[in-house]
Amino acid sequence: MAVVATATGLIDPASLGRVLPHEHIATRILGVAENWPTTFPRDTVIDTCVAVLERVRDSGVDTVVDHTTFDIGRDPQLLAEASRRSGVHIVATTGVWVKVPRFFDTTTTEEMAELFTQDIEEGIAGTGIRAGIVKACLDVIEPTPLDRKAIEAAAIVQRRTGVAITTHTSAQTQSGRVMVELLAAVGADLSRVLVGHAGDTTDLDYLTALLETGCFVGLDRFGVQAILPDPDRISTVAELVRQGWTSQLLLSQDASCWSGWRTDAQRQQQHPTWDMARLTTEILPALADAGVPQRDIDMMTIDNPRRLLTVP
Ligand SMILES: [Zn+2]
Repeated sequence: MAVVATATGLIDPASLGRVLPHEHIATRILGVAENWPTTFPRDTVIDTCVAVLERVRDSGVDTVVDHTTFDIGRDPQLLAEASRRSGVHIVATTGVWVKVPRFFDTTTTEEMAELFTQDIEEGIAGTGIRAGIVKACLDVIEPTPLDRKAIEAAAIVQRRTGVAITTHTSAQTQSGRVMVELLAAVGADLSRVLVGHAGDTTDLDYLTALLETGCFVGLDRFGVQAILPDPDRISTVAELVRQGWTSQLLLSQDASCWSGWRTDAQRQQQHPTWDMARLTTEILPALADAGVPQRDIDMMTIDNPRRLLTVP
């Protein structure tokens, strides 16, 4: 039977409901909390995450995919507690973020893939909490050997475990194209690849070139209007739907319940509309106003993420 691994256990894919496929529960800078514990008041952090997730749940979201890899502070027990208390399913991520830790200079690609596979098949660090997706990243169009190693490792993990590959890419450099080429070259199943942050551009040639490869495309930074205003993000989604690409589009925000990278005051000042409950409360109604039929909205927010997350 097909299942999806969440922070609180395996669930039936039909239970995923409406999904935010690229968000962050709590990010932090590794080593800081370990050395200066007062900078990461874990109980307060969890309370903050629960408060945000309750608002997200009340806005109509059932599941959040946490894209916080180990190197930006993944904390499986925090995810489990936040999920239990808020009632929101949370899917954890293995793989690495864009600055691949130098530790992996010391491993082979195969050894790197083996560590990520453990997260998926056995659980993270002995907790039994299993990751449900593997992440690979590329911001540039000339990948380093370490970038290539991490991308190939993700493809090995996909082949071995059946989980989807989610990616962080740059719409500015159009590194999504390179990511898809690299993944295809090492045998990844592109129909189970999500090209993240592609929606930071209105360049339809770039977006349709990605879609033609069969991958999912992430229009996943609603609310980050300093990069691209929401009206442009909305009209881009509406146009791609009109062109018939609905079954490959995923909508999210890349927001954090708690961030170790910026204080809430800094977020308010720099990105006042960057809030995890905004997609459901403001963006989906705006898409409907822009002419996107409700069945397409449901496909992008319910059916597509279920297809992405369900291990066949
Ligand atoms: Zn992210």
